[in-house]
Amino acid sequence: MIETIGILGGGQLGRMLTLEAKRMGYRIVTLEPLPNSPCGQVADEQIVAAYDDLRGIGELGARCDVVTYEFENIPLDSVRALERDGRTVRPSGDILRITQDRILEKTFVRDAGCAVAPFAAVSDEASLARAIEAVGFPGVLKTARGGYDGKGQWVVRDAAQARAALDEARGAALIYEAFVPFDLEVSIICARGSDGTIVRFPVTENQHDHGVLATTIVPARVSADIAARVATAATSIGEKLGIVGAYCIEFFVRGDEIFVNEIAPRVHNSGHYSLDATSISQYEAHVRAICDLPLVEPKLFEPAVMVNVLGTNTGDRLAGVEALLRDPAIKLHVYGKRHAALRRKMAHFTVLAPTVEEALAKAERGRTLLSWTPAHPVAAG
Ligand code: AMP
Repeated sequence: MIETIGILGGGQLGRMLTLEAKRMGYRIVTLEPLPNSPCGQVADEQIVAAYDDLRGIGELGARCDVVTYEFENIPLDSVRALERDGRTVRPSGDILRITQDRILEKTFVRDAGCAVAPFAAVSDEASLARAIEAVGFPGVLKTARGGYDGKGQWVVRDAAQARAALDEARGAALIYEAFVPFDLEVSIICARGSDGTIVRFPVTENQHDHGVLATTIVPARVSADIAARVATAATSIGEKLGIVGAYCIEFFVRGDEIFVNEIAPRVHNSGHYSLDATSISQYEAHVRAICDLPLVEPKLFEPAVMVNVLGTNTGDRLAGVEALLRDPAIKLHVYGKRHAALRRKMAHFTVLAPTVEEALAKAERGRTLLSWTPAHPVAAG
């Protein structure tokens, strides 16, 4: 019987996962290098250790009945060490191995019969030249491993830009892929149980700012046919992976074509809306999947828009909350991070409304109400 869940990673995804898991009666132990993490603040225990500290990792395994993770750049060796100790890690190390490497991931997706932008592996000038010949311009050079929120990527339009990007990457393994002039980006959260059941959340539309998710619109403004094809592709990728847990697949949509961009084997920022807008959240679906509880199809109550509240490096106090919360359709979630560094994910809010247009209008108004200001100076005396 599962009583205690271990979470590798202590960020906001772990925090929201913890809050949902606690509601369902589970104990949570998180492992994260920085004390007082967003997840650690609400978990039963936080082990303060580096992700490659095998003593800390071993301790996490010993204290938990199942271990999961909230971000995918956990060293594979740490997950393998847990598995060697006989611990259950969900999703497994075999899945992490694929999704940590963009080349393995894109190859897997293509082999699963889903379209991806043309790509080629790059490690030096010669392989870059071959990749450019095969894929053409414009393209995107990305680090094969370790990138997130648009970090470690260069859009290149000619050979000189490609060579400059190669220099900047300093010997890292790279992937060169065709730039997709997409109409919009969408994603879907699914969850798969160990019995093979897969449930799907609605397809969402995602808008980014400087590579960081800014807004998620639910449902995505795409045709029923595209939404159905996204769901079918995500289901077949989940089945082929044999994943246990929640996962997110991101797609580019261009005309009536869809291209898989990325698989995240975990709960995802584009699924935050589900805490307020669907009958079960992505976090509950993940807990159900990894704890062998029944998975049920989530139902969308109303159209919703989720806005990420990002730091602006202008202060650590969130101003405007009172004005924002006058609207009963808005739910604010704050992550407990101290410093609102530039584009750091500090909080989000979700707006529900009878139509996407109304939710979007309220979301845009809400966004303008919030700002980061210096903390009030302490009054003298
Ligand atoms: P990624 O880290 O691969 O999710 O990329 C971050 C963001 O960069 C994506 O959400 C897109 O907005 C953009 N991007 C990445 N790859 C491509 C591509 N091949 N074509 C066009 N835009 C891209």
